[in-house]
Amino acid sequence: MPAIHITDVRSICTAPDGIRLVVVKIETSEPGLYGVGCATFTQRARAVHTAVDEYLRPFLIGRDPNDIEDIWQAANVSGYWRSGPVLNNALSGVDQALWDIKGKRAGMPVHQLLGGKCRRAADVYVHCAAPSITALEELIERRIGEGYRVLRANVPREWLRYPEPTVPAEAGGHWEPRAYARAIVRLFDRLRGTFGDRVELLHDVHERIPPIQAIQLAKDLESYHPFFFEDPLAPEDGEYFRIMREQSSVPIAMGELFVNLSEYLPLIRDRLIDYMRVHVSDIGGLTPARKLAALCEFFGVRTAWHGPGDVSPVGHAAQLQLDLSCHNFGIQEGHPGRGERTREVFHGIPEVHDGAMWANDGPGLGVDIDERAAARYPFPHISERPLNGSWYPVRLRDGTAIRP
Ligand code: MG
Repeated sequence: MPAIHITDVRSICTAPDGIRLVVVKIETSEPGLYGVGCATFTQRARAVHTAVDEYLRPFLIGRDPNDIEDIWQAANVSGYWRSGPVLNNALSGVDQALWDIKGKRAGMPVHQLLGGKCRRAADVYVHCAAPSITALEELIERRIGEGYRVLRANVPREWLRYPEPTVPAEAGGHWEPRAYARAIVRLFDRLRGTFGDRVELLHDVHERIPPIQAIQLAKDLESYHPFFFEDPLAPEDGEYFRIMREQSSVPIAMGELFVNLSEYLPLIRDRLIDYMRVHVSDIGGLTPARKLAALCEFFGVRTAWHGPGDVSPVGHAAQLQLDLSCHNFGIQEGHPGRGERTREVFHGIPEVHDGAMWANDGPGLGVDIDERAAARYPFPHISERPLNGSWYPVRLRDGTAIRP
């Protein structure tokens, strides 16, 4: 057995602010030395919990935590069939925890192990959504005042019902892709008129319109100079990026649904996108993400790691290590603040202010989880969330279920 070895691996399930979070903790034979990593796939959290505790735990106990690359490669194929969001998230929790341990052993933040900082902080964009256009403009004005320079604007609900994954579509009406596409153009026209060039604007289409409409929309948005046009096409329609690229110079961000190398490689190699939007835990953690970022650098693609509320504070701290150390950083999705309960459970959360996310420069990932506090906030009971994390379908007028 190596001089230092893994003694325990377990997943911690907690929902301090209602979102199911899964964090992996790895303990070692060195007293007090442990690491934490994000394994949050909030829609299938229990499946990740099982993958970690029932399959990766016995695979890892007794191994040397120093061997991050070897552990990642071996664990990835330990079930023979690999990839997918469940297994990749389980692997990410382990991988990020091992980087946390390595940083703590070195007495350095992980970004120092990755080459050191090449910027002081990571610029973030935050979401702006409101029921009316005037409320949306007020919110954007407030965010500009708080120091944000890049904002993601949703179509106001008075113009169009926006699909909410937690609300039954049947209760809220149907979804009209053509009306939605027209509303986005109207939104950009209005906001450019109100704010001029005081702020950068972006929009996430969430793959909710047919490919040819997405191409039309990319052309229609060109004159408003969006920061980027996000998720215009579903991963299954990847070949359409080639056509979109030939017809429009709007910067394209794509990738949060990718879980396999074969999905993002052609888009980078053929320079079909501008921002890589991968969800770090969904591709298996920091080890594959740092390689992906390096590959992107050679092809002029910048990073824009996926960072909604279901990336745990541990996951945000992990991707911030890449934001700080990768020259081809583009933007980080972030939040103006975390809830009080989340702050009770997680310590060392990266702070967001002045339009950027700031690392605390603690050793490792610089973030920790209080397990006793986490236990006070179990996952919501099935009676509170009847679909247990699944999304209600968004439907066309005729009842057809469409992609989120
Ligand atoms: Mg998106």
